[in-house]
Amino acid sequence: MTMYWEETAERMARGELNRYQLELLNQTIERARKAQFYRSFDLSRVDSLAQFQANFPFTCKQDLRDHFPYGFLTTDLTKVIRLHSSSGTTGNPTVVFHTERDVAEWTNQVARCLYMAGVRKGDVFQNTMGYGLFTGGLGFHYGAEKLGALTIPIGPGNSTRQIWFMQTFGTSVVHILPSYALRLYTHFEAEGIDPKSLNLRIFIIGSEPHSAEMRDQIEELYGVKAFNSYGLSEVCGPGVGFECPAQNGIHLWEDYFLVEIIDPETGKVLPAGEEGELVLTTLKREAMPLLRYRTGDLTRIIPEPCPCGRSHLRIDRIKGRADDMLIINGVNLFPVQIERKIMGIPGVGKNYVIEIRKENYMDRLYVKVEVDKEIFNGTLAGLTELQRRITDDLRAELSVSPVVELVEPSSLPVWEGKAKRVIDRRGE
Ligand code: ADP
Ligand code: ZN
Repeated sequence: MTMYWEETAERMARGELNRYQLELLNQTIERARKAQFYRSFDLSRVDSLAQFQANFPFTCKQDLRDHFPYGFLTTDLTKVIRLHSSSGTTGNPTVVFHTERDVAEWTNQVARCLYMAGVRKGDVFQNTMGYGLFTGGLGFHYGAEKLGALTIPIGPGNSTRQIWFMQTFGTSVVHILPSYALRLYTHFEAEGIDPKSLNLRIFIIGSEPHSAEMRDQIEELYGVKAFNSYGLSEVCGPGVGFECPAQNGIHLWEDYFLVEIIDPETGKVLPAGEEGELVLTTLKREAMPLLRYRTGDLTRIIPEPCPCGRSHLRIDRIKGRADDMLIINGVNLFPVQIERKIMGIPGVGKNYVIEIRKENYMDRLYVKVEVDKEIFNGTLAGLTELQRRITDDLRAELSVSPVVELVEPSSLPVWEGKAKRVIDRRGE
């Protein structure tokens, strides 16, 4: 049985892939002429990808807001069959339109991702992501159905019901936010059910930054393989990139997107391997093509070829958005760096939150960490030791001395959607 959903496309040789991209790019540039936003741009054909990358201006999120709602639309509204909106994690929402072909291509991308992770007809796919304007629900729903999986559109929340569905219908694949996957485990514990006794095989985790340590924990608790899923509404939603069975980096579908990593300060294209901001150009989108769109997401291209045989490049786990960076007394750090440290420490529970306060004109970093039931019910010495270990490990990693507070299991606030890990109280 093949490992590929579309073997020819997924294993296209580099030269051929780049030629195909150039052809699609010129088609996209031509289509962009119909968008009000792109009218002021030089939209002549380009002779090479390098020429495009050297000269073409970026499009950014603010442009989408400024030209809300129709400024990027290239087709007649009667051709549009779907509207989605980004979840508005940062600022006002933006809208994205899809033609019938856009939805079909997007569905194909997601099917490709799921197939790559090992999902097949006969699997039972439980989609715990939000349905509605958020693309994580419908995007995966269509992709899973296309594969022929029995698709359960359960949506988020109600952990008891989630578990009941998993048990009753023998769910084998779950699409879930990583932060929720850990929290859901505490419900399994409370109900005295071992998730390993169920039919669970694959978790699709993504939509929010998470560390490898968190993924490992999810795999261990549930006895599954967990695959990192990357996407953003502006260019479709999920299905932009996905981990393969090698589980080492996210393949981005280069027949759908032209991929660049730029220096966020200077805008210069960086060589493969260097960390910077991911920039995407859509190559097949009809209703709303985007040219050199700045995702705000920080990562790097993994230059080595992947053992899975796919030729499409891989990026590293997303470190966060450029604006997720915290500056604590002049030291730069990302929330996921904190997560990486604490999630690897035995005794640490399923949730944490970072708080920054101003004290005596200095920034103070508070890390509130839920502890495991056993530690919580154990000795004071055990708790003190855990607190000391977390503090030491974080100080060594961050060059910032944190105040670590241990709290009861399941006591920190929870979110319906993506986790909100940072509370910045410095302005209060
Ligand atoms: P919003 O921008 O309002 O959150 P989206 O749902 O479109 O709306 O979110 C897309 C963003 O979510 C990405 O730009 C990225 O910052 C984040 N994201 C998506 N998938 C991942 C992932 N696998 N790892 C880290 N961050 C991710
Ligand atoms: Zn691979």
